[in-house]
Amino acid sequence: MFVTDKNQKSSYDVIVVGSGAGGGQSAYTLCMDGAKVLMLEAGRKYVPETETPMFQTPDLAPLAAASTPDKPFGFYDATVDGGWEVPGEPYARASEEDAGRFEWWRARMLGGRTNHWGRISLRNGPYDFKPRTRDGLGLDWPISYEDVAPYYDKVELLIGVYGSNEGLENTPNSSPGCLLPPPKPLVSDLMVAQRAKRLGIPVIPGHRAVLTQPLDFKNSPARLHPGNARAQKIIADDMRKRAACLWATSCGRGCAIRANYQSTTVHLPPALASGNLDIRTDAMVYEVTVGRDGRANGVNFVDRTSGKHRHAAARVVILAASACESVRILLNSKSERFPEGLANSSGKVGRYLMDTVGSSVDGQIPLLESLPPLNEDAADGHQMYVPWWLYQEQHAGKLDFARGYHIEFGGGKRMPDHGTGAGLEWLTGGSYGAKFKQDVRRYYGSFVGFAGRGEMIPNDQSYCEIDPVMKDKWGIPVLRFHWQWSDHEMRQAAHMQRTFADIIEAMGGRVHGEVKTDGAKAIAPGGSIIHEVGGAIMGSDPKSSVTNRWGQTWDVDNLIVADGGVFASNADKNPTLTIMALAWRASDHILERMRRKEL
Ligand SMILES: Cc1cc2nc3c(=O)[nH]c(=O)nc-3n(C[C@H](O)[C@H](O)[C@H](O)COP(=O)(O)OP(=O)(O)OC[C@H]3O[C@@H](n4cnc5c(N)ncnc54)[C@H](O)[C@@H]3O)c2cc1C
Ligand code: SF4
Repeated sequence: MFVTDKNQKSSYDVIVVGSGAGGGQSAYTLCMDGAKVLMLEAGRKYVPETETPMFQTPDLAPLAAASTPDKPFGFYDATVDGGWEVPGEPYARASEEDAGRFEWWRARMLGGRTNHWGRISLRNGPYDFKPRTRDGLGLDWPISYEDVAPYYDKVELLIGVYGSNEGLENTPNSSPGCLLPPPKPLVSDLMVAQRAKRLGIPVIPGHRAVLTQPLDFKNSPARLHPGNARAQKIIADDMRKRAACLWATSCGRGCAIRANYQSTTVHLPPALASGNLDIRTDAMVYEVTVGRDGRANGVNFVDRTSGKHRHAAARVVILAASACESVRILLNSKSERFPEGLANSSGKVGRYLMDTVGSSVDGQIPLLESLPPLNEDAADGHQMYVPWWLYQEQHAGKLDFARGYHIEFGGGKRMPDHGTGAGLEWLTGGSYGAKFKQDVRRYYGSFVGFAGRGEMIPNDQSYCEIDPVMKDKWGIPVLRFHWQWSDHEMRQAAHMQRTFADIIEAMGGRVHGEVKTDGAKAIAPGGSIIHEVGGAIMGSDPKSSVTNRWGQTWDVDNLIVADGGVFASNADKNPTLTIMALAWRASDHILERMRRKEL
């Protein structure tokens, strides 16, 4: 249930800070197994079933739903009280230059960024957990793919992920029955696949957390919660209430019929139904409190509705406020015993901040012009994608950068909006009236866009720390970001540009704009791909890492980090499925330790 000052209990088994992918998964796993959990979420309560503008058309919104500074992804985007800036909650940057700039996207709402994320859900492969062993760069994880694979299976079964098993290198197959069938490709997808193949580039079905058919509520519950009849019943009942996708709306607005994954529609309802979850929204946590024994005993937070400072107590504290926010809480939790911040005896809290390498190229394809009217709203993107295909060439030293990227691409005729028909001058030379209408009809649906998503190697120059001066409106010290790409990432971005241009040309198309062969110009700023991870990395040595293989901090054994903070590398695969798999694994470990009376 939702709690306030009046009915918050005096103590809980576990406090979970944050309600996004990491917090939602942790609360779900713990509550389904009987632990009493308090979830503290800085944002407001958010109810997708009633608040999601699924069917509103752009003309009903201000500026035809175009992007504005307070709604960067357009008027209907699900983000509440957030975006590139959060009012009253600034952060500092050591550099404003493009090369050293870090951008930070936050959401202040129940469910966090999972309400509007892209839902692309790729597994890390075996190489991705041992990158240093493979090429001598970066850091290895203290765990391997085999440790995480059973949890990838569970998360896929629970949230619903479409895709296919292709058996490609470092692109793992899921266990039988875990994936839902992929959606039908668009005409443009098929054409990309056909022409990319000629260049030796594989195109396979994408993996996205969208239900292409109802979940298997008969068989999956027993696989998710073996031996736990109550949990099986709760999740079977909940799975029945999730509808399959209707292929007509935009997932970034959220999904009122619960056909895609959002923490608010997938993790929190069954956790609440267990009777074991209390949620307190508008609770901005700023400190983990520690008892005389050096163990965490709760957290301090600001009630954003009253501005009052409050405390909550528990036997275990999980930080899942998103990678950088969890770092901020740790660094702000200073005490005599922990003068450099909590869990920071290694000095590594905030270090090895990573994002994904991003670069994109768009093109226009004459063969796709003037197609008959088609309903191509489809799966809202990522019907198909290109996994990294040059592992062997890279390993043999034939490329001038060390790590790979995958390609996300899109095309087709989505619902027209304020941008449809704009910017055609590079093709038409400018047109008006009847000719303009003809041009719009001719070119609508003939564009394809390619975006690379590549691995970044952690480095000493990319990190966050507490700014010595700046505070947010609650008086809480804020983060200051330092950022630097290495040559590996910049050369990788240049390779993306050349590859995308090659595919567009193989499709008989024209590249829009310049192909940037200078990687420094081709690469998107740090943080802008919104895959920030690291800052509380896991490792096998307390001197060089913040947590052990379970996300449990070395210095405080009942304090666990369950978001992207623990990532020791950032593979090209989008991070959220891995965040959830690791959060489930960490929570299972907490339950096991509780049973052994260690916690
Ligand atoms: C537009 C967009 C598209 C994306 N697409 C993809 C994709 O396709 N695939 C993918 O893998 N990833 C994608 N991501 C990234 C994905 O959203 C994140 O990796 C994921 O949400 C991280 O989960 P999290 O639980 O760590 O953080 P969040 O989802 O950000 O949740 C953290 C929660 O903690 C709360 N919080 C923060 N600070 C405090 C505090 N001090 N006290 C209490 N609560 C606090 C926040 O309000 C928030 O609700 C995308 C992100 C965006 C913005
Ligand atoms: S496209 Fe499907 S999953 Fe996405 S919001 Fe619409 S119904 Fe939901």
